[in-house]
Amino acid sequence: MIVINNYVNGEFIESTNGCTIDNFNPATNEKIAIIPQSSAKDIINAVDACKASKSSWAKLTIHERAEWLDKIADELNNRFEEIATLESLDTGKPISLARNVDATRSVNNFRFFADLARKMKKTQFEMNDAMNNVINKPVGIAGLITPWNLPLYLLSWKVAPALVMGNCVIAKPSELTPMTANLLAEVIHNVGLPKGVFNLVHGYGNSCGQALVEHPDINLISFTGGTATGKIVAKSAAPMFKKISLELGGKNATIILDDADIISNIDNIVKSAFLNQGQVCLCGSRILVHESIYNSFLKQFLKSISTMKIGDPLDENTKLGSLISNEHLEKVESYVNLAKNEGGEIIIGGKRPNLNGKISEGAFFEPTVIVGLNHNSRTATEEIFGPVVTIHQFNDIEDAINIANCTKYGLAASIWTEDTKLGESIAKKLDTGMVWINCWLHRDLRVPFGGVKSSGVGREGGFYSLEFFSELQNICTFFNS
Ligand code: NDP
Repeated sequence: MIVINNYVNGEFIESTNGCTIDNFNPATNEKIAIIPQSSAKDIINAVDACKASKSSWAKLTIHERAEWLDKIADELNNRFEEIATLESLDTGKPISLARNVDATRSVNNFRFFADLARKMKKTQFEMNDAMNNVINKPVGIAGLITPWNLPLYLLSWKVAPALVMGNCVIAKPSELTPMTANLLAEVIHNVGLPKGVFNLVHGYGNSCGQALVEHPDINLISFTGGTATGKIVAKSAAPMFKKISLELGGKNATIILDDADIISNIDNIVKSAFLNQGQVCLCGSRILVHESIYNSFLKQFLKSISTMKIGDPLDENTKLGSLISNEHLEKVESYVNLAKNEGGEIIIGGKRPNLNGKISEGAFFEPTVIVGLNHNSRTATEEIFGPVVTIHQFNDIEDAINIANCTKYGLAASIWTEDTKLGESIAKKLDTGMVWINCWLHRDLRVPFGGVKSSGVGREGGFYSLEFFSELQNICTFFNS
């Protein structure tokens, strides 16, 4: 069992109140760590540390800060396998996924933002009699709040651009997944980043997280998490005019047109539904299929699902691990019961699997497919965030677009068709921040990432992140005559 501390002002320290939270491996229910249950006092101390170091950090050139990001990436890469193992233990996700997605992207995020920052160009607007120079200044102190589904992947996606643009950082990861945030703090400590530039405070969202959002000297909040929490965060931050970015929940549609190449794409469509046990904000949890190919699609879909091995997350052959907690498992189960009450038919899954040995009490749930539901039903419109998809038929494209747009969410969608021009024209009619055509989660880190409606406010990714984590200032200099 690991004892994890906060990282404040370059030191690993307990919370000021000495209280702790137990952390469990959801696949085995084993206690794996103890973390600080921090309070507002710890946030105040972290803010003081940022204040003491922010001017010297801001004074470095962007190239000097990019060097620091590269050092962090190198050290993270040295601990690649450890990141994957900790992520798998902490979240219950398959080790292969933790390696290919979480560990890989966490290292890449630092390298990517280091390279991108080096490519930033001067923005100038010349007038007849003056020159405008637009500069990017640090915002100041950035509060970064992240969820449990992709712990270091999402944290590094915020920390890297925040640091390179000259901000000091206070991070608050989900209390369910503290392990790799702690590893990042160790890495940052070992590479010798100046103290107070990066701080990590563990604790519950409604106390420690809330204190972070409410602290008047924190100038920016970047939040990724559920829509209900996002509302609370926005309500607290808005009156203080903090810069804010909210990456929230989704209920994404997978639209399969009658000309889709189902045979070639079926494994990708299954992946879009069930990756990370369906606990990715981008997962396609509502599948809309043209009625003419419904039966053949369903046959292929169920066949592919039945090949996915559920089991020990540390087993290399496991494709589906456990959900994040037994509490979350109960929420997912309650939606399956709701689906039955709403007239849905469960055609595969719908229950906990029978597993033996040390994972017999883990938070596992079978991949579940529900048909026969109205597309406006609660099951088909609310975010379940688990291995549960609903399938709906449509008979014309406008019908599919209307169904896709009928939820309060607007994060992402995917469209599967051999006619990519048609796919692009449908994409423009979808109320989402992102659309993939004949692929899913195919990520270029330069593109804008984020949602509309209740899926969020603002965009992160590439130069959009660098802009969000900086304050633009225009300096207009009149030419001397
Ligand atoms: P939550 O909203 O429950 O928590 C997110 C983070 O916010 C956690 O660190 C949490 O701490 C913290 N928090 C909770 N309450 C407050 C508060 N009052 N003030 C400040 N911080 C608070 O989300 P989950 O962790 O359950 O993550 C799942 C959700 O995240 C899903 O809805 C998913 O769609 C969304 N998500 C969105 C993504 C996107 O890019 N759009 C990407 C990934 C996930 P604690 O855990 O301690 O409560």
